[in-house]
Amino acid sequence: MKHISTFFEEHSPVIDNVQWEIEKGVMVEFDVMRLDLLHPQISGNKWYKIKYQLQDAMKKGAQSVLSFGGAYSNHLHALAYAGFLSGIKTIGIIRGEQVQNQTLVDCHSWGMEIHFVDRKRYRKKTEDGFLHAIHQMFPESYLIPEGGGGELGIKGCQEILFNIGNNYNHIFCSVGTGTTLAGLIRSVPREVIVHGMVVLKNGSYLQDEICNWVSTDNWQLHHNYHFNGFAKISPALIQFMQEFQMKTGIELDRVYTAKMMFGILDLITSKKLDSTKRILAIHTGGLQGNRSLQTV
Ligand SMILES: *Cc1c(COP(=O)(O)O)cnc(C)c1O
Repeated sequence: MKHISTFFEEHSPVIDNVQWEIEKGVMVEFDVMRLDLLHPQISGNKWYKIKYQLQDAMKKGAQSVLSFGGAYSNHLHALAYAGFLSGIKTIGIIRGEQVQNQTLVDCHSWGMEIHFVDRKRYRKKTEDGFLHAIHQMFPESYLIPEGGGGELGIKGCQEILFNIGNNYNHIFCSVGTGTTLAGLIRSVPREVIVHGMVVLKNGSYLQDEICNWVSTDNWQLHHNYHFNGFAKISPALIQFMQEFQMKTGIELDRVYTAKMMFGILDLITSKKLDSTKRILAIHTGGLQGNRSLQTV
């Protein structure tokens, strides 16, 4: 645990500048914080989300750490590696039928114990009955909520911007559970606006949830860039990812960051976002999931 913490204390994220021609002869520019480059295995925002939960698990003397996710979960992938380095056993509860893919092969090779749970039961995962059953099966295990959320997850994400939050007028990130967004909101001065690109189709509940986690109103959710739902892709999205990588050298992931980046450029093009302001997009990683792109 100590040496991963030290790694993250000693490395600060690279900030790249992106220039993009929104129409012929009209260039705009903004910065990208490359959390995707921060650590070779623990992708993007996930370290920030799990670090205090891992610490808490160890402090409480848990025998293992258990969490939930899909078969391509960036969260479980990061947790498996962090557990491997910290010498704490990890258990991953995977939604859906038994499958095999590179994400799960990695998780397994880092010692994660993997269990598949069918979707109907999985949907009840936050319900007491299901959690109770899990607790009975793994009584010594420390539970991390799906996606690494919760108060300790938010606390970790408050460290993403260190001291750079006041260099920008607008800061963007993509939103799954909203944990990362909540951490960013808490850590910036009030005059900075934090934008969340929601990647779920029915993400309207997030507005109230995030309200409960933060005490200021300098933030905004965007619901128009989910491309028909979580992890859904379209030819236009894939084409955009390829074009973005070709022109900027930055690889995006199809679930989160491609949709965020598409949204930022769309807001600028449609003049809903003033590109003369200082804009920062957080690249939250997720590239390990791209290894499945050939098979979808
Ligand atoms: C998990 C993840 C997110 C979403 O983070 P939340 O805190 O759940 O909103 C965004 N981007 C990437 C690449 C992720 O893996």
